[in-house]
Amino acid sequence: MMARRNTKRGARPSAGTPALPPYLERLGVQPRKALGQNFLIDELALTEIAEATRVPGVDTVLEIGAGPGGLTEELVGRFKTVVAIEIDEELAEITRRRLGGGGGLTVIAADILQFDARELLTEAGAGPPYVVAGNLPYYITQPIVRKLLESDPAPARTVVMVQRQVARRMVGGDGRESLLSMSIKFYGTPRALFDVPASAFWPQPKVDSAVVAIDRLEEPPVPISSEQRDSFFELLRAGYASPRKQLHNVLPGVLGLSNAAVGKTLEAAGLDPALRAQHLDLSDWAVLFTTLNERHPGVLTLREPS
Ligand code: SAM
Repeated sequence: MMARRNTKRGARPSAGTPALPPYLERLGVQPRKALGQNFLIDELALTEIAEATRVPGVDTVLEIGAGPGGLTEELVGRFKTVVAIEIDEELAEITRRRLGGGGGLTVIAADILQFDARELLTEAGAGPPYVVAGNLPYYITQPIVRKLLESDPAPARTVVMVQRQVARRMVGGDGRESLLSMSIKFYGTPRALFDVPASAFWPQPKVDSAVVAIDRLEEPPVPISSEQRDSFFELLRAGYASPRKQLHNVLPGVLGLSNAAVGKTLEAAGLDPALRAQHLDLSDWAVLFTTLNERHPGVLTLREPS
């Protein structure tokens, strides 16, 4: 994790459990565990997430999982238009009543996975450019991240709170890449911002959390066309099919090639056959993709490179 001033190894200083804010005391509803309802009550963390979301020239933010509106309130003070999505109608109504009235806040009671960004922005009378913020419901972190990466129009920046372990996988790094970090790096640049202890939430989750920002790239950083994208991801999934195995052991089975053919392809791509998927960066995968298609056209079943 990126180091922060006056903190140890990027962790937020823990000042014990923050007091429950009065608006949550008055809520009178039981947080629903099944919907991942752990509300962030640490004011500094709320402020820092909202600040990190700001991008010059962008005044619209889409918030995912607004809950009772702790983060929403911070966003309303910083953006002209806030489109807050919350699946729980009761909480959506609470946030509407508590924060509605002034400014450009629209709270939509909806399942984020059932709608795309364009529909949600349009419903609020907004459009691109926009950014995304969210203290995500952890039970569906990955489908939400995937949806955001593939969304059109894409957010200029996404700042999300996720489980700490997932944050590490999202950011990856030298020798620690994951299928998730590779997928994210195809579309953007992930950065670990800061860690947040379980005590910053009410009720406290069983895991610690961390905040990650993803800045969108205009184009993928590797020469893979949009027609080739699905095949490229097919290769990534093949490589990560058994992440603990060396590539020369995992690829023959998943690609239906002989050990010798895979070994020669890896060598032709300039890759040591004993490497594991986690050691390859996105450019390594792109070179392997091109080499594989040259030497074994059709082995990736989806599409041929043009
Ligand atoms: N933003 C608030 C905060 O920071 O305290 C609440 C965050 S809480 C971790 C996640 C919120 O996402 C919950 O309020 C939950 O009801 C909502 N949620 C869960 N599944 C959702 C979905 N599919 N679509 C939209 N919101 C969802």
